[in-house]
Amino acid sequence: MKYVVVSGGVISGIGKGVLASSTGLLFKTLGFRVTSIKIDPYMNIDAGTMSPLEHGECFVLNDGGEVDLDLGNYERYLNITLTRDHNITTGKIYSSVIERERNGDYLGKTVQVVPHITTAIQDWIERVSKIPVDDSGLEPEICIIELGGTVGDIESAPFVEALRQFQFKVGSDNFALIHVSLVPVIHGEQKTKPTQAAIKDLRSLGLSPDMIACRCQEKLEAATIEKIGMFCHVGPNQVIAVHDVNSTYHVPLLLKEQKMMKYLSKKLDLEDIKLSEDALIKGENLLGKWQKLTSNHDQSFETVTIALVGKYTHLKDSYLSVIKALEHSSMRCHRKLKIEWVESTDLEETTKNTALSDYHKAWHYVCQADGILVPGGFGSRGIEGMVAAAKYARENNIPYLGVCLGLQIAVIEFVRNILGHENSTSMEFDPETNEDTASVVYMPDVDQVKLGGTMRLGIHSTKFTQDSEWSTLRKLYGGADSVYERHRHRYEVNPKLINDIESKGLKFIGRDETEKRMELLELKDHKFFVGTQYHPEYLSKVLDPSRPFLGLVAASAGILDKILESEDLNYKGEF
Ligand code: GLN
Repeated sequence: MKYVVVSGGVISGIGKGVLASSTGLLFKTLGFRVTSIKIDPYMNIDAGTMSPLEHGECFVLNDGGEVDLDLGNYERYLNITLTRDHNITTGKIYSSVIERERNGDYLGKTVQVVPHITTAIQDWIERVSKIPVDDSGLEPEICIIELGGTVGDIESAPFVEALRQFQFKVGSDNFALIHVSLVPVIHGEQKTKPTQAAIKDLRSLGLSPDMIACRCQEKLEAATIEKIGMFCHVGPNQVIAVHDVNSTYHVPLLLKEQKMMKYLSKKLDLEDIKLSEDALIKGENLLGKWQKLTSNHDQSFETVTIALVGKYTHLKDSYLSVIKALEHSSMRCHRKLKIEWVESTDLEETTKNTALSDYHKAWHYVCQADGILVPGGFGSRGIEGMVAAAKYARENNIPYLGVCLGLQIAVIEFVRNILGHENSTSMEFDPETNEDTASVVYMPDVDQVKLGGTMRLGIHSTKFTQDSEWSTLRKLYGGADSVYERHRHRYEVNPKLINDIESKGLKFIGRDETEKRMELLELKDHKFFVGTQYHPEYLSKVLDPSRPFLGLVAASAGILDKILESEDLNYKGEF
């Protein structure tokens, strides 16, 4: 197993995740099987209880793991399926060590950060790196490890020390380190001092970079590269310039141009590994597809505008997978994507906090958009704004996709305005609501008290109903009988109202295995009005866009028929 660690210096949030996934992708194009591990030095066991407004989206895996959003990047770029153990947190490591201590496994020793915590980290990495993650079912050959935060933080110290020890444990031809740094441009001059300081910090902790990836808003000058090489004690071929490009999808090609793989292959002795003809061809095909995708991206001139009506719009990372699924779909439709961010409270006339100008601006965005998306969310704030947006989409034949909360919103709107239960809502927003007319109710089988890891989570199957041949969504899934997607919710459509709702034309075309739980809705005689109780965005892949999102974007761009005629809608499904 070859380990490639990606760490960061200077500041966080400069694209370490994208760099790490792009590096992994390049290894794949050479024909290798690649996996990845993300280390998050926070104390939380997982991302499940963290506010999206503080930490960005909580990503959900097949096994129900609620993890850091970077794992989404890896799955999307590398087309792999990770497990909850691929996200290491301080919380997970400490609780495993404390559990062993309570069991007496340390035989009377004093349990310490070094060596017990650092050993636990290394054992975890070695164990998890071997888990098969792609459809070959074989052990991966290369493991990318992304260390969250910046080197030098108090929190990350045990992980840095564990990696320092690890490089000797696995041997230097099995270990490479890429340090991501920032080169700011001040008064037109590219400044190298922050990078010099970051590398000094790294070396003082016993780690030396094999490559320094420099993020910069503009192309790095030759003199800057030379200077970084000289002051940071690396050759110029070890300094990689990662300037801003048209999209994050261009980053792998940017790294390739700079011969990053040449250096890493040598360092990791990859030339000595004999790959099968099949693996090499697969790798080459992947590169070809990726190049085509980026050129499609650059040649998409017509715009498709989607209004994203949500409640966490002030931190775009809260909707990272949703944005990515929209991007994948837009590239597939050869359209330039424009997202109009609409904070749902701004659509509410009666909200005291909303200025009249914000209200009009928000409605202007909604009315100008080609399609409307209501993504997932929790709590009652902003609900009425979302209901108003769903009503507008339904009544005006505007493409609508509701994801999880967005499905529940579409049901609330329909029950109120078509069935006439005026005050109907979800028990999430009003626990006292009338159980006979509440649109959305608590699922009987979820824990109502404990918050961490207690929702209906992870992959479950959804069966299309027998009379759903007409459904556009089903056609988008290649006419499949059932689909497998990831879930994260506590509430569901009130079973008591199903017949009434369906009799008025809003059809629940997909249900769970028991057929009692409503998973998919679609409105008849509408351009595209779809809701999914699951989160299709989590399984969207760069080269295989999520079907509900593809439907929304295609319908919004006016090319749904064309997309439905295309041959590559075969649905493979995941288990
Ligand atoms: N709050 C809703 C529920 O728990 C929707 C969840 C979501 O959108 N992820 O069912």
